[in-house]
Amino acid sequence: MKVVLQNLTKIFPSRNKKAGGEVVAVNDFTFEIPDGKLVGLLGPSGCGKSTTLYMISGLQKPTGGKIFFGEDDVTELSAENRGVGLVFQNYALYPHMTVKQNILFPLENLRGEDRLTKEEMLERAIYAAKLVQIDDLMERKPSELSGGQQQRVAIARALVKMPRVLLLDEPLSNLDARLRLQTREEIRRIQKETGITTIFVTHDQEEAMSISDMIVVMKLGVVQQIGKPQEVYDNPTNLFVAKFLGTPPINVFDGEVKDGKLYIGGAAVLDVPGADDQEVVVGIRPEGFVLDENGPLVCNLKNVEVMGRDVSIVSGHDSSLSPIVRSIIDADNKVAVGTETVSFTLKSHKVFIFNKETEERIYFEV
Ligand code: ADP
Ligand code: MG
Repeated sequence: MKVVLQNLTKIFPSRNKKAGGEVVAVNDFTFEIPDGKLVGLLGPSGCGKSTTLYMISGLQKPTGGKIFFGEDDVTELSAENRGVGLVFQNYALYPHMTVKQNILFPLENLRGEDRLTKEEMLERAIYAAKLVQIDDLMERKPSELSGGQQQRVAIARALVKMPRVLLLDEPLSNLDARLRLQTREEIRRIQKETGITTIFVTHDQEEAMSISDMIVVMKLGVVQQIGKPQEVYDNPTNLFVAKFLGTPPINVFDGEVKDGKLYIGGAAVLDVPGADDQEVVVGIRPEGFVLDENGPLVCNLKNVEVMGRDVSIVSGHDSSLSPIVRSIIDADNKVAVGTETVSFTLKSHKVFIFNKETEERIYFEV
């Protein structure tokens, strides 16, 4: 089921009554989520991810715009009638019910033509439990489960009605690092197996990048960029997106474009044909540095961290906008011990330049 958002907008009155004003939580969001895909909705806390999700679910009414499931306009449809499965960060299971009863619960409330027989309900519950691999825990109470298992029950409960759309709001935040990794792979597998169009909300860029067919990056209610994870990483449209994606993060410098060359701290570090003369912010991905003793970008060496396959060089530079510059190079390259500086040339497709005021990308011929 494709999901279409058309100029979707949500304005809240300010929570601070004295200060007045209003909060534009989601601002004119237009996007068509293709059928059967997993879309990661990504951005820092407060950027409008949950509000978007709740509008799609029907729990919140948009101030403006429309929502379609397939060709159906569902904007005015109640949450119960939209056929969505919703999973929250805190699993919110019924503590006095067993796993089985928790999963069965949404089915027991079906009325009219949707009503199922006891056998059908049980069959569906077992199917959902098997999908998330908790079918051997059916008689336990939530308190007898680990966090990861509880979240699986919550996912099974969302799947049991065979929703048209699955909505997940930071479903992994309450899990420890290892479980988070494992559960995100599980969610991806389940999504692929069922083919349910899924929207996955997270503030964790790595999480979104690793499991999404497409990501949507938001900031202050406004969509910044939409695309395949790798495309957005390789081609950020502005400084915010460039900084938000990537671990370790992109390195940023003050710079200047003059006569088709990019300067950092007086040194011409790269040819940037086609870019106009101006002061810029330069973003260099950690993998964009090449060790070269005659390279134009000279940094003060602080530390070399060997990480098996790669070497991470930690250095500093006067024009760097953060205290350290982190570059990642192949472990075959040796950094001379005892040196005080380290010099680099740059891979031009890993260097992005941005207008200093607007922070929008300035394109040059690579
Ligand atoms: P996210 O999920 O990305 O952290 P939210 O969608 O929860 O962000 O919130 C977006 C913005 O809307 C925030 O500024 C938040 O304070 C505001 N907001 C969310 N819900 C309400 C509400 N019920 N009343 C007033 N403001 C709200
Ligand atoms: Mg949220």
